[in-house]
Amino acid sequence: MIRFGIDLGGTKVELLALNGEGGELWRRRLPTPQGDYQGTLQTIQRLVNEAEGELGCQGSIGIGTPGAISKATGRMKNCNSTWLNGQPLLDDLQQLLSRTIRIANDADCFALSEAIDGAAAGATTVFGVILGTGVGGGIVVRSRLLDGPNAIAGEWGHNPLPWPTDDERPGADCYCGRSGCIETFLSGPGLSRSHRERTGETLDAFLITERTDAGDEACGITVGLYEERLARALGHIINILDPHAIVLGGGLSNCARLYRTVPLIWGRYVFSDRVDTRLVPPRHGDSSGVRGAAWLWEY
Ligand SMILES: [Zn+2]
Repeated sequence: MIRFGIDLGGTKVELLALNGEGGELWRRRLPTPQGDYQGTLQTIQRLVNEAEGELGCQGSIGIGTPGAISKATGRMKNCNSTWLNGQPLLDDLQQLLSRTIRIANDADCFALSEAIDGAAAGATTVFGVILGTGVGGGIVVRSRLLDGPNAIAGEWGHNPLPWPTDDERPGADCYCGRSGCIETFLSGPGLSRSHRERTGETLDAFLITERTDAGDEACGITVGLYEERLARALGHIINILDPHAIVLGGGLSNCARLYRTVPLIWGRYVFSDRVDTRLVPPRHGDSSGVRGAAWLWEY
């Protein structure tokens, strides 16, 4: 069976065709027609036609999107590619491409990709975490995405940071309307703000982690604080979900010391005499979105 995964991003649309074993057969990307819904549909149709023409066969289609489908209306919601919001994307594509299509958000696709044949392959319960511009997540149990009535399983970024210290309350305002959300501490901009508040120095998250690796003391303290907060936030998840593996994705997943330090801290917050959950870096990196979209047809 050939599976097509499509990553519908804000700047590019990418199609990857996988064979039954997860081997890559065909890959192409086109720019996303910004602000143009009909153009977006046509771009996806064009990629599918080109893949099928060159491979000489049909494939199943899974799509990863920045938002989710509202179960109430069947229309897109929460997309930062705002021209998709309110559109019946799934229905329109199913009609255009004459087949049943599956759609999931990009954090879910990341989690699925790493659970099926990535860093968490073989783990029964997997929490996939995005630590990037925002903080998101997805949960995979026995190779299937956990999918509930609100289409938000694993979305922990707008929960409050657990066990806050006095100087972490009430926390920064968040665009969701509350304050002190996990995302405001653990996103890249959150790390950057934390460093600025402590030192007065404005650096982006990548530079802070890079300077930490090079031995910069001030940046090292900021990253140490980040690790303590990440350990608390993940400890909370472990108490509820008890996952076998947690895979980090997004820009901050490149910070190698997190995998060493965070498991040394999280035991303080987990209600157990020991913690055997593995914390692992992603295997597929930037390809996780398209690969996970393709694996939406694993089951
Ligand atoms: Zn929030």
